[in-house]
Amino acid sequence: MTVAVNVRGAVKSYGTNRVLDEVDFTAQAGQVTAIIGPSGSGKSTLLRAINHLEPLDSGYVTVRGELIGVRLHKGRLRELSERAILRQRSRIGFVFQSLNLFPHLSVVENVIEAPVVTQRVPKQQAIARAKDLLTKVGLADKIDAYPRQLSGGQQQRVAIARALALEPELILFDEPTSALDPELVGEVLTVIRDLAAAGTTMIVVTHEIGFAREVADHVVFIDAGRVVEQGPPDQVLVAPRHDRTREFLGKLV
Ligand code: ADP
Ligand code: MG
Repeated sequence: MTVAVNVRGAVKSYGTNRVLDEVDFTAQAGQVTAIIGPSGSGKSTLLRAINHLEPLDSGYVTVRGELIGVRLHKGRLRELSERAILRQRSRIGFVFQSLNLFPHLSVVENVIEAPVVTQRVPKQQAIARAKDLLTKVGLADKIDAYPRQLSGGQQQRVAIARALALEPELILFDEPTSALDPELVGEVLTVIRDLAAAGTTMIVVTHEIGFAREVADHVVFIDAGRVVEQGPPDQVLVAPRHDRTREFLGKLV
């Protein structure tokens, strides 16, 4: 197995609030890692650290062996240039909880924006690829629609196509279905399930425990900024070792 993401000793505080407290976990390439835990436990902060949106106070993150945010220079840590950060970030797709498409751009324009602007992919080539991706997420007939004309589930599927357009090594999902009406959750989970079947490396923060059990290879339970337990879904979700995990799972059902 190849390590996709390695988080070691990650610490992050906001003032006196220690939001990540020595977090360690590894996400393998080609696998789905599910992160579960109560609201406020640090899950989003952890994803943002992996995607460079949040510098850690100590500890480190690597993506495919490359340090995120800093590099070693003669044994000393150094900040990366803005350009290097953009390059690293372009290797990682991010799908947020909130629906955050560009409202003034059509569906296809949303999907081609990053490849054309940041990767200088020729527009016609980007459009052809965007059409393929939108077909993959079941939205071939919506390419010229605007976000406001779509349901929440359709908008989230566009957001997934937009993340895929950069051909990322890894996709981070932060509660991708929690802003959706219940009847729209399934269509988004189906797309993520298809990506998993195709061997896409993903880290998914989710409260959909049934989905995590079915799709995840590895489950990490976080509480108050600490990893309480992690392991295969049949262990963590079905036969948890810690009272805290049992208590959390008990509240969800
Ligand atoms: P989760 O995603 O698990 O709900 P978060 O990572 O969003 O948790 O937040 C963890 C804690 O960090 C919460 O107490 C939250 O209020 C706090 N927090 C998150 N972002 C910030 C910020 N930018 N400034 C101050 N506190 C923050
Ligand atoms: Mg969150």
